[in-house]
Amino acid sequence: MHSLRIIDVFPGPFMTPPARLLCGRTPAQRIQEALKKRIATLHREGRAKPRLDVIWVGEDAPSHIYVQRKRQACQSIGMDSQLHHFPADIPEATLRSHLKDLSSHPQVHGVLLQLPLPTPLPGFAILSELCPYKDVDGLTAWSQGQLALGLPALFPCTPLGCLMLLRSAIEDLRGVHATVIGHSPLVGAPMVHMLISQGCTVTVLHKASKNPEKLCLTSDVVIAAAGARALVNRQWLKPGAVVIDVGIHRGGTHITGDVDSTDVQDHVQAITPVPGGVGPMTIAMLLRNCLIAYEHLENARPFPTLHQLLREEIPPL
Ligand code: NAD
Repeated sequence: MHSLRIIDVFPGPFMTPPARLLCGRTPAQRIQEALKKRIATLHREGRAKPRLDVIWVGEDAPSHIYVQRKRQACQSIGMDSQLHHFPADIPEATLRSHLKDLSSHPQVHGVLLQLPLPTPLPGFAILSELCPYKDVDGLTAWSQGQLALGLPALFPCTPLGCLMLLRSAIEDLRGVHATVIGHSPLVGAPMVHMLISQGCTVTVLHKASKNPEKLCLTSDVVIAAAGARALVNRQWLKPGAVVIDVGIHRGGTHITGDVDSTDVQDHVQAITPVPGGVGPMTIAMLLRNCLIAYEHLENARPFPTLHQLLREEIPPL
């Protein structure tokens, strides 16, 4: 006859509690509320409204969702937003000249080029036309270079959101071993610079890495940004690790991430949910960058360094 063992019934020292969920929705909401108050003050003082212009090329469905979300978020905090939608076959020269025009438009404070662009348009190369002071996604060569050098700039939204969530689990990151899976200019590469700036020892994994599970297994922190569904399971993770799951995979009944959350949930200390983790923080960071760009362009306020930015959720006006 089957008999229950005591550890099947009572959680005891043999059972690991489920991971703490590092939700992004609540902090993102808090940041957006604070930004909304700032914009209301600007309005009361009769000052210009911050404005974010979004460029969307082609008909890619996920890009459409992201563009809509970003514009709705602008609207919800009282920020102006204009959409510039172009067909997938727009000549590269036309797109470049549009970015140049927006760069010099006096009423535009932030410009976002929704990536990826349809083939063969080279997204990151075209961004060289964008004035880095309006680069609210923090993706131009200037912004990324400033980040790598520890200098002030507008910083990439997704890694910045990841860093804020990570610091809510581990306040002092000095000496922490972090592994970043993926090294794209959008997420992985700037994430590496941010972690190094916080004093982490960083391992970077990518498609060509050999034995990635083994390399990841000694890490205190894992940032999964490979764009590969359920790539990371408990065999990749040290017990008690903190995991930031950046991946977004649509299709099927659920949106899922790069981490097999069911497999790891009683193995790790904390993990971001998908959806509701990094995504909302990305949007909050974008809005915050837009207000920083506004203050820089309208009032010659210097950009903050990453350290200054992390000291407060909303930089003072
Ligand atoms: P990308 O395709 O540009 O880059 C992927 C990187 O991962 C590359 O460096 C590649 O070498 C590496 N990689 C791929 N497969 C790997 C594997 N099996 N092992 C190790 N490394 C591997 O993707 P991206 O633009 O950086 O986006 C990554 C993921 O993050 C995607 O799922 C994307 O949808 C998601 N994303 C989410 C947000 C958000 O706000 N939550 C924002 C941006 C991107």
